[in-house]
Amino acid sequence: MTGRIAVVGLGPGDPGHLTPRASAALADATDLVGYAPYLARVPTCPTQRRHPSDNRAESERARFAAHLAADGRSVALVSSGDPGVFAMASTLFEAIEAGASDWRTLDIEIIPGISAMCAAAARIGAPLGHDFCAISLSDNLKPWEVVARRLAGAARAGFVIALYNPRSRARPWQLGAAFDLLRPILPAPTPVAFATAVTTPEERVHITDLGQADPALADMRTLVLIGTREMRLIERPAASPWLYAPRRSSAA
Ligand code: SAH
Repeated sequence: MTGRIAVVGLGPGDPGHLTPRASAALADATDLVGYAPYLARVPTCPTQRRHPSDNRAESERARFAAHLAADGRSVALVSSGDPGVFAMASTLFEAIEAGASDWRTLDIEIIPGISAMCAAAARIGAPLGHDFCAISLSDNLKPWEVVARRLAGAARAGFVIALYNPRSRARPWQLGAAFDLLRPILPAPTPVAFATAVTTPEERVHITDLGQADPALADMRTLVLIGTREMRLIERPAASPWLYAPRRSSAA
């Protein structure tokens, strides 16, 4: 088969955070496929076909990309951030595994991007400088019990936690439930950061602690970072503090 699919990470928002490799893959494509607001971030080119879709139609979008490629098209399937982090690369491989056997001969390339946790961490200091994990708070594809078990396990194990998909209109209660679950495990002064729409003109960063963390500060463009008892905070005059993960951990 001659068709190809590049699964392209667009980064967190600002075009300056798009890698040159991702830009080249977007320019080379005959067809662009993705969630409409993400496609809107890609410069238009009159010779390319654009196929915007709804946010929830991920599996359908991945199958559509595979069909286009099987017809010989060169497809860029776009994701925000990194396409391998809670995004289209897994969805595409699910479609390939379940799909027509000749889809396995398609030329597929995953082009990494700057994930929201890296962009958010860079604004805050170095909170992911040592052991951390990323958890999606969405219970659309996994039961809440699984989310809750992983959160509690990560907190008990001393990981900094990057929470993706913390809150949306359809999922209003999960972040509050996550804070309630973590409060008996982590001390109240544990730092918590809310980083919203990082690298875009609407960027907002708010640093607080677990005792006071208010879920209302998050929306679907927020990355929530939950620190550990070891996390350091450097206060600054007239600026929000730097948060960083120290290089050494104690045995406690
Ligand atoms: N593949 C993406 C994640 C998609 S899941 C990545 O690697 O970044 C969508 C979630 O990503 C959002 O709910 C939010 O938690 C986070 N996110 C995406 N863009 C963001 C940004 N600019 N600032 C903060 N969080 C962002």
